[in-house]
Amino acid sequence: MLTENIEKLNKLDSKLSAVFYTQSLLEWDAETIASIGGVEERAIVAGKISEIYFNTFINTDVENLLEELNERKAELDEITKAKVSIYKRKFDNIAKIPVKDYSDYQVLISKSYSAWEKAKNEEDFSIFAPFLEKIIIYQKKFIKLRGKSGHPYNTILDDFEPGITVEILDEFFDKLRDSIVPLVQKVCDKQSKDIDFINQKFDIAKQAEFSEYIIPKLGFDNSRGMMTTSVHPFTLNLSRNDVRITTHFQENNITESIFTTIHETGHAMYEQNISEKYGLSALTTGVSMGIHESQSRLYENNLGRNINFWNFNLPILKHLYEKELKDVSIGKWYAAVNHVKRSLIRIEADEVTYPLHIMVRYEIEKKIFSEDIDVNELPSIWNDLYEEYLGIRPKNDAEGILQDVHWSGGDFGYFPSYALGSAYAAQFEKTMRKKMDIDKDLNNLEMDEIKEWLKENIHKYGSSKMPSEIIKDATGEKFNSDYYIEYLYNKYDN
Ligand code: ZN
Repeated sequence: MLTENIEKLNKLDSKLSAVFYTQSLLEWDAETIASIGGVEERAIVAGKISEIYFNTFINTDVENLLEELNERKAELDEITKAKVSIYKRKFDNIAKIPVKDYSDYQVLISKSYSAWEKAKNEEDFSIFAPFLEKIIIYQKKFIKLRGKSGHPYNTILDDFEPGITVEILDEFFDKLRDSIVPLVQKVCDKQSKDIDFINQKFDIAKQAEFSEYIIPKLGFDNSRGMMTTSVHPFTLNLSRNDVRITTHFQENNITESIFTTIHETGHAMYEQNISEKYGLSALTTGVSMGIHESQSRLYENNLGRNINFWNFNLPILKHLYEKELKDVSIGKWYAAVNHVKRSLIRIEADEVTYPLHIMVRYEIEKKIFSEDIDVNELPSIWNDLYEEYLGIRPKNDAEGILQDVHWSGGDFGYFPSYALGSAYAAQFEKTMRKKMDIDKDLNNLEMDEIKEWLKENIHKYGSSKMPSEIIKDATGEKFNSDYYIEYLYNKYDN
């Protein structure tokens, strides 16, 4: 019986993984090269494939199978045990929502994206507000149906970062706010303002050349993945052997494409280094948003904005842009790529002010799910919080509450994982520094030691370990945000 059930689970896993692979391929196509004219048929196909996924997964046979295996968990091998856990989580998250609500909600989501886009273009929140209101009503209903205890926001936080709760985040963000707000002030007062050279005209073909040069140097395996461009850069894994990243180029900004490429390469390294023993499985992907962001941010900030990394790479960049970067010394370059600025747009924010942008969204989402809030009040709550945390106030909703796409897709609970990612990265770096000379490695652009540590302690496990287990096993202690604050102060307060 047990052997039979394990066999059934493996079959289910490979079937669902194949459906998921197809969904991902469609998504990749839609975001990169698909024609605008084909949007309707693509939506139909995407809908049909979602139905196949739902019908294959959400039924009593699968429910019983997972129950039976879960009862005999102690007898299972490690891989099967991890598969049971991951599928039980996925099942419980969807199963309690009635099919009708599920599909009505999907329709609402697809319509609200264009409402959000229009609202943003016209700088008018009232176009998006009725959609947002409905999405919130559905989300609150789903949270109730899913029946988890504790703060209602915890249920959706857990979707993106398993194990994370309001209690943990309140403490994390309180501590961050107390230390970062004064740090921002200090840095802004004394830092170099000589950064305009970044916004000269930089030939895009050469930017692409630098991106293509740097990704394999960072460890990306070009034979098991590729890079192209898209409006909103992202990483997508069809399998560990086919990991795709996108970047984007701006002619009047040299740093944008460089750090986007390094960031996405960090995500890709995680996916490419997952152990091959899991095969094509739900386990063969990064475990959570927070751990994923820890890898992209570690590459982008902890490594990519380190002065030693640029000791090696600035001469190469200067060779490409002999005229534009002629007078740029290493000191000037380092100061420019680590420039701190109070700004309104999250995705353009520097390392130090970034978590403040996340705190605004966290405070608002927490409020939405614990109070009865009128959506029309949200823009002014947003603007007040920006004024309080960052000392600046948006002039319109496009540079305020409408800037991010997430809420139009119902992705509440997502934002905190960005800040957690930076904090996890600092804790990982601290541990790595006890085992290796990161600065020396970067100075010679020798990435093997760094890559190997990340692979052995984080990447290879895929989704077979929970985020908290990965952190504990890799660093010897549970998540501790002090390392993040220490990292920021060491780097910026000197
Ligand atoms: Zn990312």
